[in-house]
Amino acid sequence: MRDLASLPKAHLHLHFTGSMRLDTLVDLAQASRTRLPSSFIDGDPLRVPADHRGWFRFQRAYDTARHLVTTEEVMRRIVLEAALDDAAEGSRRLEIQVDPTSYAPFVGGITPALEIILDSAQQATILSGVEVAVIVAASRVRHPLDARTLARLAVRYAGDEPGTVVGFGLSNDERAGHTASWGPAFRIARQAGLASLPHGGELLGPEHVRDVVNALGPTRLGHGVRTSEDPALLDAVVAAGISLEVCPASNVSLGVYHEPGDVPLGTLLEHGAQVALGADDPLLFRSRLTAQYEIARSLGLDDAALAELARASIRASLASPSSKARWLSEVDAWLAAPDPTTSPDPTTSGGAAP
Ligand SMILES: [Zn+2]
Repeated sequence: MRDLASLPKAHLHLHFTGSMRLDTLVDLAQASRTRLPSSFIDGDPLRVPADHRGWFRFQRAYDTARHLVTTEEVMRRIVLEAALDDAAEGSRRLEIQVDPTSYAPFVGGITPALEIILDSAQQATILSGVEVAVIVAASRVRHPLDARTLARLAVRYAGDEPGTVVGFGLSNDERAGHTASWGPAFRIARQAGLASLPHGGELLGPEHVRDVVNALGPTRLGHGVRTSEDPALLDAVVAAGISLEVCPASNVSLGVYHEPGDVPLGTLLEHGAQVALGADDPLLFRSRLTAQYEIARSLGLDDAALAELARASIRASLASPSSKARWLSEVDAWLAAPDPTTSPDPTTSGGAAP
């Protein structure tokens, strides 16, 4: 049982506000004399039922945090802390999702809001050693025309270096809106070479996954766990080369599965899915990146299988081929190192002559 925090990996599903450290949130709340809901300070992960009421409770808590992010300084702090926390958990690459609309009123519009995030990502890359790239994510609870505006903005900052926009996403309640109405925004993004990275198949099942796949042409699916409910669909998703960003702690917190043991990671892997584990919103779910690999270990994956999961996260990332090759060799080195729990103890075996 090797140390999972030192397993090199890529983190492909993390939301900007949801990445915030709890200490940072408490600082911000104190500075603005805001009372935080008990869900933040009782020390427990959020647990809600997988229905509209549950989502509303999740969204209300999320909005409390988001409303405290009102300055450039705080935005920069969040990106840097997310990168530093990722670095401490073996992440080599962070693709962080943000909807700049939420912060636009405080910094002069969506363009400066995105520029602050991108500049912070570039700085955080230097300071943390983790490559930080950005996914601009539209929201299902806003009008699809807003998504087109965001897609055009994302395209202007598209690139493949850290500190650029590498993909376009769609987040918030999967049950909101008609998936096809975001098709035009995703076409704008895809035509400019951005990866298509919508959420799908967490709160809703195979039918929703089919809609997302058909309408938005995903490169990766945010979650996609419920694809497991339809083996033929899962096989088609795998054959189409669509990776899955699986976030076990998030699934349990949002009531999709009762407990971590119910997350169908095994089914996904048996069908050959390329799975990248992610934390989604550690601020609310109280579970960061390494914890997702711990959950995978608790589901029966041994170190070789966990290394393969880490490789999948790296392969599914939008990093350059040279970065990927370097990190993949670091995974090999992690696995080649002796397992501390099975290696013979040098003080009791071999060593000194009798
Ligand atoms: Zn998410």
